[in-house]
Amino acid sequence: MLLKDKVAVITGGAGINGLGFATARQMAAQGARVVILDLERANPAAAAAQLGSGHLGLVADVTDKASCDAAIAQVLQTLGRVDVLLNNAGITQPVKTLEITGADYDRILDVSLRGTLYMSQAVLPAMRAQKQGSIICVSSVSAQRGGGIFGGPHYSAAKAGVLGLARAMAREFGTEGVRVNCITPGLIETDITQGKLTDAKKAEIAETIPLARLGRPADVAGACVFLASDLSAYCTGITLDVNGGMLIH
Ligand code: NAD
Repeated sequence: MLLKDKVAVITGGAGINGLGFATARQMAAQGARVVILDLERANPAAAAAQLGSGHLGLVADVTDKASCDAAIAQVLQTLGRVDVLLNNAGITQPVKTLEITGADYDRILDVSLRGTLYMSQAVLPAMRAQKQGSIICVSSVSAQRGGGIFGGPHYSAAKAGVLGLARAMAREFGTEGVRVNCITPGLIETDITQGKLTDAKKAEIAETIPLARLGRPADVAGACVFLASDLSAYCTGITLDVNGGMLIH
């Protein structure tokens, strides 16, 4: 087992069809005790219960610093440590540059970018004290190629910000045993895409992808398990593309 007895916190992990829950499942299968954090309406406790016993689901809003700190305080009190943080919570909005309002900008950047900062700040003191930890930040191919398929420019900017933040944290905390890496998924079939693409459109997109299909949540989960585990012990500051070859650079 790659993650035996590790405590892994996953933000935005309660959506059963999402990347976070797929990762929660694979991490639990590798022996981790998983903590799912999500908004109240997403019911993180119910999602954690689906993983079996020994896992935890807590309500937390990643845009609220006090909420992030309280959730991690509870994790430390209940499970005693935190080894892995997956900064996965994110929202998107398919609008063009001239349509982005100030409120849209705040909303999109707050969840992906501010949320990644606040949650990382919440776990770093414990990881530092343990001299060990792995933080994985979910960016997007949209950051690298200037737009994916759904997200607007403010989404690309938020996800590009995540790349910069993660790389800077990797440089800052490497000597303290904390690794920080990013995943850049391509187009993965989750609730974010559901109902928004016809089968014909999916087939058209798949033709442009070297591996000839859209991604599955399990594809991203495998990459997250790699970055969480000691298999990636000498990787920090990296960006791991999980896009089927949609962007080769
Ligand atoms: P999803 O909608 O299933 O998951 C996002 C989760 O974040 C939801 O459970 C939601 O409740 C939670 N969330 C939203 N706001 C939150 C907040 N303030 N605090 C805590 N949780 C919050 O979508 P997904 O496709 O699984 O996306 C997961 C991550 O992957 C996101 O960051 C997304 O931008 C990124 N991503 C997805 C794709 C894709 O094609 N699906 C591609 C690239 C990147």
